[in-house]
Amino acid sequence: MRTAPFPSWPLIRENDEKTWMEVLRKGRWNRYGGTYARQFEKAWSEMLGAKYCLATANGTSALFTSLNALGIGPGDEVLVPPYTFVATINVVLLQHALPVFVDTDPETFQMDARKVEAAITPRTACILPAHIGGSAADLDTILAVAQKHKLPVLEDACQAHLGEWRHRKLSTLGDLGCFSFQASKNLNSGEGGAILTNSQELVERCESFHNNGRGTPKSSFSYVRNGCNLRMTEFQAALLLEQLTRLEAQSRVREQNAAYLSGMLREIPGLAPARMYEGCTRNAYHLYMFRYDKTRFAGLPRSRFLQAMKAEGIPCSGGYSPLNKEPFLKNTLDSRAYKTVYPAKQLAEYMERNHCPANDKLCEEGVWLTQTMLLATRDDMDQIAEAARKIQSQAALLVKS
Ligand SMILES: *Cc1c(COP(=O)(O)O)cnc(C)c1O
Repeated sequence: MRTAPFPSWPLIRENDEKTWMEVLRKGRWNRYGGTYARQFEKAWSEMLGAKYCLATANGTSALFTSLNALGIGPGDEVLVPPYTFVATINVVLLQHALPVFVDTDPETFQMDARKVEAAITPRTACILPAHIGGSAADLDTILAVAQKHKLPVLEDACQAHLGEWRHRKLSTLGDLGCFSFQASKNLNSGEGGAILTNSQELVERCESFHNNGRGTPKSSFSYVRNGCNLRMTEFQAALLLEQLTRLEAQSRVREQNAAYLSGMLREIPGLAPARMYEGCTRNAYHLYMFRYDKTRFAGLPRSRFLQAMKAEGIPCSGGYSPLNKEPFLKNTLDSRAYKTVYPAKQLAEYMERNHCPANDKLCEEGVWLTQTMLLATRDDMDQIAEAARKIQSQAALLVKS
């Protein structure tokens, strides 16, 4: 179908270079010596409509800091999706808490909100949905269950820059919301992260924790809690401020291309673009996700479909594998720390409960295109659909070959 590459990422403009050199020459590279991190926090919180923003070193540390601010620790259970990047789970394990997996809604690829309440126990301390692909988890249901059980909600919005639920920006509906600005993300400073909240108490605890447990004012050498150094540098913040000027326009291009592409892919029997919940008023499209049903492709396995797409010049991947089955989980629970905190019976019961059949199936059917492909032209979208149609028409031959 094509040999031309899709748009590369990041896009680098003159303003990026200028600001980078400005920070370099000023020589104030640490956020508390400079002004850029503060400026970015102000710009990002205003853009999203949250009272407070704290910039962090990366998305993982934003989540880690948030869990600390919520006081999540050993003995606590945190409800998490299995269909996410591993960091969503790792931060729970870093607190020596138990990540309790809530199965996935295969139509949307999001945590199945209808199954959240059944997963709550007296030990549940937090609900941690991830807005995967930049689409939204069902926040109406999740927030209602959280309120009923008086549980905090931490939104993993690491893929959801400018995504919305009922016209409010993702990350601002829960108690805390986190972003990543890692190199692949729609807003990118190589590494970077941010925490959004409307709670002064929570943002103060986050700031203190991410600054080695210092009390405020920051200049004092009074340490009021345990902490870590998870601060963003001025270089990261300056780059983000410049990239921010282009985010809205890029997001619109992604949305338009995704809508156009979905219209075409839906017409191909066996391909099902991820559905959005009715409350999702804007999808950030960090990923373009759809399900592949091989029975409509003469039994051609997904791996062969992916290969054929690549051969047509359309790079795509099979997406996440089932995280709840990855060895890191069992290995961590086998550690001395976990054995000290949790009775053996509880850990055994946990492993017994740890099944997500809908997610297992989704992981075999999912196909992803990346956000940069959605920055291409309409003609490029036509070629993606055309490649899929071509493979379908030749599927029986491919199966035999
Ligand atoms: C990228 C990502 C993270 C982690 O962010 P880093 O900046 O890479 O640490 C966490 N959760 C999700 C869903 C992500 O996509």
